[in-house]
Amino acid sequence: MTGSGTSSVGHSADLFARAEQVVPGGVNSPVRAFRSVGGTPRFMVSGSGPYLTDADGNRYVDLVSSWGPMILGHAHPAVVEAVREAATRGLSFGTPTGGEVELAEEIVRRVEPVEQVRLVNSGTEATMSAVRLARGFTGRSVVVKFAGCYHGHVDALLAEAGSGVATFGLPSTPGVTGAQATDTVVLPYNDLDAVAQVFAERGPEIACVITEAAAGNMGAVAPHDGFNAGLKRLCQAHGALLVIDEVMTGFRVSSAGWYGLEGVAGDLYCFGKVMSGGLPAAAFGGRADVMAQLAPAGPVYQAGTLAGNPVATAAGLTTLRHATPEVYAALDAHVDRLHGLVTDALSGAGVVHTIQRAASLISVRFAEDEGRNYDDMRAAETWRFPPFFHALLDRGVYWPPSVFEACFVSAALDDDAFSVLADALPHAARAAAGAMAP
Ligand SMILES: *Cc1c(COP(=O)(O)O)cnc(C)c1O
Repeated sequence: MTGSGTSSVGHSADLFARAEQVVPGGVNSPVRAFRSVGGTPRFMVSGSGPYLTDADGNRYVDLVSSWGPMILGHAHPAVVEAVREAATRGLSFGTPTGGEVELAEEIVRRVEPVEQVRLVNSGTEATMSAVRLARGFTGRSVVVKFAGCYHGHVDALLAEAGSGVATFGLPSTPGVTGAQATDTVVLPYNDLDAVAQVFAERGPEIACVITEAAAGNMGAVAPHDGFNAGLKRLCQAHGALLVIDEVMTGFRVSSAGWYGLEGVAGDLYCFGKVMSGGLPAAAFGGRADVMAQLAPAGPVYQAGTLAGNPVATAAGLTTLRHATPEVYAALDAHVDRLHGLVTDALSGAGVVHTIQRAASLISVRFAEDEGRNYDDMRAAETWRFPPFFHALLDRGVYWPPSVFEACFVSAALDDDAFSVLADALPHAARAAAGAMAP
């Protein structure tokens, strides 16, 4: 049972010990390993609505939502039925299918600047392919990115990346060559002057600027008013493309993602997470004249054996079709309610903090004022986070196991789930208050 702070984790611990023998670090993606918070990662066996259940039978209110995709909650009946129905017809054909056309049409209908899309298997593939396409289209090599923004584990984009790279404090990663890194310019987020300066110095070499539509991988950091519009203006003036990575924000913060809130049109977009419905699927797309450079229409090569897989496509399409205006209103309301509970708990315990918001992305920063870039976010009292996290986990709340990750709510959160949160948060706030600086 949860709620007592004494939940058993024996089965998870056994599975983790076995996993460590055959999988590096015991996990298939680093932030799942609890390295920055300590303790035993929970092995989940099922999910339903707003809850996850682990191998020891502990139930958690899920604020991770598979790192974004599950906006309708776990095992949504319509999505499960669509997957079952698609699987019954066959798992993969290696031919075009009608479902791919429908999913592409749904994305194009929702996000106006996207005229054509290509489906891939992960957000990483989407950003990797978008950067290749931008280089092919412009005939230039330099990519500008922002510190603390994460665009998947693409070689050229790992420099000062957020997410797991931030969680583990990695300056860079072995295996990325100097040549790959020299074509990447890393600038501080929200600093338009720095972008203007690099364009003034190296404009004719710059293929693209890639940015998260709103940063969510160093904690939630919204772009300042005019930042994305300024990027667009500078790119246009210098013949570079603006690649907007909406893998996290797309189809989450509004029906048209961050674009739907701000209206700044990029040249290329990357999507993943929500549009996958929880199966491996992602996409990149944008201006038709740029997309026309992709093989077989054009010379820039890009391909995938399982791209547009019919089962994944069914999950994504059904999720998007159920992501109605009511769902987006529920997500916003849930995040406001969570915001209020977290603020009350931390204020009540006297913990200096700021709630970082980028629409319905939310994270906690243990510092007085709002963080605007990666340096700010790393300068907070991040050591208060592990005890905060574990007090929540012990009381049945699965908060993302890193201070640099945003919470992902689902529309399935209900009053019962919120009462678990309301009970757990004051304990977590007291744990954060009692944390010792290293
Ligand atoms: C998660 C994420 C990616 C990478 O997607 P994967 O499917 O994990 O490869 C890329 N960009 C952003 C903004 C993300 O949040």
